[in-house]
Amino acid sequence: MTEGRNPSFAYSTHQVRVVFGAGSLTQLAAELDREGLRHVLLLTTPGRARELDAVVAQLNPHLAGTYAGARPHVPAEAIQAARDVLERVEPDACLTLGGGSAIGLGKALAQKTGLPLVAIPTTYSGSEMTSIWGVTDGEVKRTGRDPAVAPRLVLYDPELTLSLPAESTAASGMNAIAHAVEAAYAPDADPVSSLLAWDAIRRLADSLTILVNSPYDRAARAEALTGAHLAGRALDMTSMGLQHKLAHVLAGSFGLPHAQAHAALLPCVVAFNATAAPEAMDRIAAALGTDDAVSGIAELAKVLKIKSLRELGFNAAMIPRAAALATQAAYANPRLVTEPVVRTLLESALAA
Ligand code: NAD
Repeated sequence: MTEGRNPSFAYSTHQVRVVFGAGSLTQLAAELDREGLRHVLLLTTPGRARELDAVVAQLNPHLAGTYAGARPHVPAEAIQAARDVLERVEPDACLTLGGGSAIGLGKALAQKTGLPLVAIPTTYSGSEMTSIWGVTDGEVKRTGRDPAVAPRLVLYDPELTLSLPAESTAASGMNAIAHAVEAAYAPDADPVSSLLAWDAIRRLADSLTILVNSPYDRAARAEALTGAHLAGRALDMTSMGLQHKLAHVLAGSFGLPHAQAHAALLPCVVAFNATAAPEAMDRIAAALGTDDAVSGIAELAKVLKIKSLRELGFNAAMIPRAAALATQAAYANPRLVTEPVVRTLLESALAA
């Protein structure tokens, strides 16, 4: 409890084996053997041919089949299409290659079939470390927590992130920082989640600042992926607040890209919450190497050339519905969240 100085805490973690390192993809078959997994269905998003080839080359004879139609927010049609392939090839596990969209599809299949999940993350979404799932049916996205969907094996190879474009690198990295920021001031923060959050922010801020100009810097890629891993762990252990609710609404109901929505919102949400979470803000500032979290996050967004909400296609006419959706249900946040407050926050974000 960062703010309350309450010495009692409780948390659960799910069982997962994590293998991290440049070139660790070559250990994939041995790691699957170690887990007793023989035939996996490979799931990914469209356009990942080069990384897919690299993974397939390591998988034989473990490859049962491939489905490359994962899409953002895990639509029901993608789940059904992947399930059709799954029923044909009868794997004993699913293996995701890619970011939160591929991992989300794997989680949906794990939930429906009970098959274990293996993840090879190639963005900084952190979803691979969480038991949080999300699926979309029509216009409605449902999310929840279920330890059964959390990957059992996660293999991080930073070499697979070299191809992530600069703009996605910055936005996805800010998405990971958003997990850590909200973990830092979460009401159920504990000494472990707090350490994870502070260190994630430090590693991500340092490495993203390098990657924005040098996307092929291998040391910075490894550092950013380490930060994303820590941020994902912190996200899994804590309750998220306004930042995650708003990003969820803007991406789910207004079609903004998920990581970019997080990145555009973060400076405004940190500014909004700052006075209500002074201790967490001091830690966040220290992790950023500055003495003020609000200006530190704003400056980082500028350095990373983060697109504004307006540039992402959000406009003033969308504010009333967004504010209504973001305040439909109660959730933890350092400052009281009301519909007028969210409208004001979004107006200032559009003016920025
Ligand atoms: P994404 O998975 O949709 O990936 C974005 C784009 O980048 C895709 O086109 C993908 O093919 C491409 N890409 C991925 N890796 C690449 C690489 N190495 N090189 C080049 N291109 C690459 O985006 P995301 O931001 O990783 O994930 C967003 C989704 O994840 C959202 O649906 C969000 O709700 C979910 N999410 C879930 C959790 C959780 O804990 N459940 C956490 C964070 C995000």
